[in-house]
Amino acid sequence: MKYIVSVDFGGSKIESALFDLQGNIIKKLRIATNAKKGKKYVLKKLLKIIDWTIEGFNKKEIIGIGIGVASPVNFKKQILGNPPNLPGWSNTPLAKIVQNRFKIKTIVENDVNCAALAESKFTNAKNIVVLTLGTGIGGGIIINNEIYRGNGFAGELGHIIVQENGPKCMCGNRGCLEVLASGTAIRKLSKKVFGKELLASELAKMKNKKAQKVLKEIGKHLGAGLATIVHALDPEEIILAGGVKEAGNALLKPTIKEMKKRVFTDKKVVVRFSQLDDPVLLGAACLFLE
Ligand SMILES: [Zn+2]
Repeated sequence: MKYIVSVDFGGSKIESALFDLQGNIIKKLRIATNAKKGKKYVLKKLLKIIDWTIEGFNKKEIIGIGIGVASPVNFKKQILGNPPNLPGWSNTPLAKIVQNRFKIKTIVENDVNCAALAESKFTNAKNIVVLTLGTGIGGGIIINNEIYRGNGFAGELGHIIVQENGPKCMCGNRGCLEVLASGTAIRKLSKKVFGKELLASELAKMKNKKAQKVLKEIGKHLGAGLATIVHALDPEEIILAGGVKEAGNALLKPTIKEMKKRVFTDKKVVVRFSQLDDPVLLGAACLFLE
């Protein structure tokens, strides 16, 4: 048997899985990242979870370790950019470190690019855009079935400007899509309306007008962002992944309505939620299945 180790390395959790070459998960582990404790601490945890994942298996049967990381990645050099949610990790040659430790070929890729790669394996569309809506908003672009990297860091779609003078974003700009339509934005807006932070899934379950209004407002911002994506890339599908997908049609409908109102070119683009359970893990494994 041959296997692939796949890691989803995020700012709040690290997940690791062992895949067979048919794409089935044999084993899956999850730990908290505790990113604030610094790089040395987190790296130790990262290596440990890979250790646990391959425990009991013959190293010679593992063809690779794929890591999807919540950071910009210089794919050619296999070096991280400057990740806002992983303090201290700038310019880390992560693939080299892991490869030296385990003596197994290692590939590092941006986590949302991994998710996009996984989605592209499960759709007939050749050109897709994947947005992950969670704490922030990440983007991945697939053109002709391949990840589009531009000059290295393409796909930062959470930082499309939706309101020129809008609220401040983590990136230093104002009015980014991320600050207006992420899971964090939903929590903040529901605090304003209900006096407490609520998740997209909780709002959707409430089924009252006030809750629907919150999701409608978020959907309007999201739709405006999607219109820009359609005008720039004209993809066949835009797939929304991450925790926000729990909001269902209460979010999806106003999003599509706003997008269609603004798009003057291709209104046929399909906007839908992801059907995959672990798109980042699956995509990081796909780095070795191509
Ligand atoms: Zn931004």
